[in-house]
Amino acid sequence: MNIVKPAANIIPKWTKNGSKLLKKEKFNIERLRYDEIPAGTAVFERVTVATDFGKGCSKVLSFRDKDGKALRKVVIKEKDGKRVSKTIRNYERSKDVLFTDTKHVLTGKTTNETREIFHVKPQADGKKSLTRMKFEGKYQSDGSRLETQVYEDLAPKKVSCEKLKTTAKRLKNGQVIDKTISGDSEIVARVKDDPYLYIRNYGKKDFIRSVSLLAKKYQDVADVAGRLKIQKINGLSHGYYQSFSKTIAIDPHKSGKADLVDTLNHEYRHKWQYKLISKYLGGLLNIFKKDKSVLSKKEKQLAPKLLKADIFYCPPMFSYEKYHANLLEKDARAAGQKAYDEYVENSKKLADLLGVPKSMTFVDGMNEKTAEFIKDAPKVDAGIFNVASE
Ligand SMILES: [Zn+2]
Repeated sequence: MNIVKPAANIIPKWTKNGSKLLKKEKFNIERLRYDEIPAGTAVFERVTVATDFGKGCSKVLSFRDKDGKALRKVVIKEKDGKRVSKTIRNYERSKDVLFTDTKHVLTGKTTNETREIFHVKPQADGKKSLTRMKFEGKYQSDGSRLETQVYEDLAPKKVSCEKLKTTAKRLKNGQVIDKTISGDSEIVARVKDDPYLYIRNYGKKDFIRSVSLLAKKYQDVADVAGRLKIQKINGLSHGYYQSFSKTIAIDPHKSGKADLVDTLNHEYRHKWQYKLISKYLGGLLNIFKKDKSVLSKKEKQLAPKLLKADIFYCPPMFSYEKYHANLLEKDARAAGQKAYDEYVENSKKLADLLGVPKSMTFVDGMNEKTAEFIKDAPKVDAGIFNVASE
């Protein structure tokens, strides 16, 4: 074994787990060769540690601002001269909140992503409370993601106090399965039926895919084939439904999460309207068949009105007023609004129960931040930070 005899104060010792400090360097940031330096960097340091009794090596790169506060840390692990993994941790601060996000990259692919949000709040007794919210995603080779969300108080209590913890597996198509929930029994009881509990922290595209599955169920169109397109839409519209191709398109950039819930339910309601109309027309054609009662009483009343509204449909570019007043639109707006209200209400309830500050509102705020981070991770990959090799 490659053990160096300790010469006190000159050569550092190997620790029990086989690591040893090799170098500690401070760099002039103007002369850095790194592609991406966080804004506000004043100090850059690199610590090199030999690991595994010399077989491996870890480099810790730290970027700090002028007050010495960390902006980014990168840990690169090598073994037998080859890079094994890279972990990038970014820090972001606002008045009372510290955001950190970590990406763990193994052989060029992001395998783990963690976003943590720490919230510091002064207490009446002068002490400070510390709350942590954490979302962790572990990417599997089949494209699914194992997820953990934790909401906990870290201080003033010495032992961490878990208010709420969820785990789940998110499939590629947005379906969330294998859900578990634990924590404070009162909080759990009050949020366990919240349909958005597992997906609020998602990036917008992931969020759309998952909400789309929910909206299909809500609007009773899970049995109708069709496509969902997530794309840029020109003009003012946030989304549309094309009845002949049964395609729903939605623009992720135009709205926040609550609005996305609204738009998706709105568009799926349009889909339902056409399902109802074609059922109604089919019923008229099959007038001599015995079973004519596929539609409920309410649907029987609504169907001819929707059909008429479809015949007289006026696109917004011709007359916005007529478009707005059309029954198809009125009916779809009501469906969208109902889902929107449910989402917002559930979000507020969750924020309340967890004592989340306004700056992290669940409707769009904090989760937007998390969302921006947790998105299509395997694709963003190693390019985040190209460290020049020496
Ligand atoms: Zn519409």
